[in-house]
Amino acid sequence: MFSKFLPDYYLPSSLDLCPAFFLQKGIRAIISDIDNTLVTYDDAEPTDAVYTWLKALERAGICVLFVSNNNHERVATFNASLGYYATAKSHKPGKKAMEAAISAAMKRCACTRDEICMLGDQIFTDVYAAKKCGLRAILVPPIRDKRDPFTRFKRLLERPILRKFRKLQAKSAPLHFAVLGDPIAHSRSPLLHKTLGDLCGISLTYEAIRTGQDELAHRMQALKEAGYCGFNCTMPLKTDAFLFSTKTGEAAQSLQTVNTVTPLQNGFFGDTTDGLGFVNALRHHGVDPKGKKVVLLGAGGAARSVCDALLIEGAELCVLNRTQKQCGAVLAQVLTDASLKAACADCDILVQATSLGMEGQADFSDLSFVDTLPAHAVVADLVYHPLETSLLAYAKARGLFTVDGLWMLLFQGIASFTIWHGIAPNKEIASKTYDVLRQSFEDERK
Ligand code: NAP
Repeated sequence: MFSKFLPDYYLPSSLDLCPAFFLQKGIRAIISDIDNTLVTYDDAEPTDAVYTWLKALERAGICVLFVSNNNHERVATFNASLGYYATAKSHKPGKKAMEAAISAAMKRCACTRDEICMLGDQIFTDVYAAKKCGLRAILVPPIRDKRDPFTRFKRLLERPILRKFRKLQAKSAPLHFAVLGDPIAHSRSPLLHKTLGDLCGISLTYEAIRTGQDELAHRMQALKEAGYCGFNCTMPLKTDAFLFSTKTGEAAQSLQTVNTVTPLQNGFFGDTTDGLGFVNALRHHGVDPKGKKVVLLGAGGAARSVCDALLIEGAELCVLNRTQKQCGAVLAQVLTDASLKAACADCDILVQATSLGMEGQADFSDLSFVDTLPAHAVVADLVYHPLETSLLAYAKARGLFTVDGLWMLLFQGIASFTIWHGIAPNKEIASKTYDVLRQSFEDERK
């Protein structure tokens, strides 16, 4: 009796669902509700976040159509800047408007009914309508529910169905993931993903599999055939993983590297999460790079990812590197004592993305440039071996706010986790996972 009301997925937020999440499930068209699923009743138009989300889906070849029970004016205003297929007063869970949208999706996306899903926040309208039409249903919690008695009563009736869903989910078989690279034995990714899985209630396995460049193509295919839902690629595989990805996210396309692979029915979806991981690590600490003057040291692979992501976020960048070279869209100037001190004088965020200070590598011979940073400046180091580099220790002693490299490592893993599971772990889960990773480093040092 419950089956017609049970969603296939119950996830925290529509906007956390990345293109790869849908593509992996063979979904090529989404029939979406509007109110409380994408925006609140108060948002007449798509928010910037919704717009970005819709454009990312569009770029990945996924169609979105709106089927709403709200009135024509509301739907027309919301859809005005988008021009998507949209129906108002749809009388969900009735089938008429849904069937019309399914036909439109099949034509526009050249897809089958199996490749269409419903996305909504209500079980008795959205999920039930999907099930009556033979579609998969993704349920999300309402963004901001109305407080009227009717809505509250509906939510009360939904509770036993959600309990049933959670029970079934707890019994489901674990999903399989891995990290590939060489060397790989010391990778923190298995601990990171298992911890996130435990804290988010997702049953998963995650292995580290030593894989050289010449083995990558074969390994990717073998993991896909074995039913793996995703894998990370680290050194020295990031460029080859890009070449073997049949579809790529924007960051991967721009940097030509891939660290997160999602097997699809036909091929692989590749993306890179390093830059986003760095930006989210700053955000976790309440640091918004928008409009900030950032001095970025380094122009290697990690610096390029960070540079790209910071430019997208609207930061103003000055890149300094040992040798003059291009760092993505920015030409890196030569790093000298004088250029570094001059750049630091009006810097809001200093990002250390060279290998200086890393265990076994050369370190800064002189840290006096830190004294020229303004008192409000934040100092972030990408190096996480050791966790507290000499740069961070010096900056801390000067009373500056610091962010160590483990935060970026954590948040690039969280971004992969979100691609695969459709869940962006909250601040508390991120902090707990950081503590677990930090402890593993401390245990290793004992
Ligand atoms: P990479 O591509 O090899 O680049 C190394 C960078 O360091 C280049 O800019 C290089 O300058 C510079 N460099 C090396 N030795 C130097 C020295 N003696 N003096 C001044 N500059 C020097 O490496 P990467 O992948 O970008 O990694 C850089 C660092 O970031 C590593 O420590 C890595 O562990 C860390 N990282 C951390 C994360 C994280 O999640 N926290 C992720 C990725 C990387 P030239 O261009 O002149 O050679």
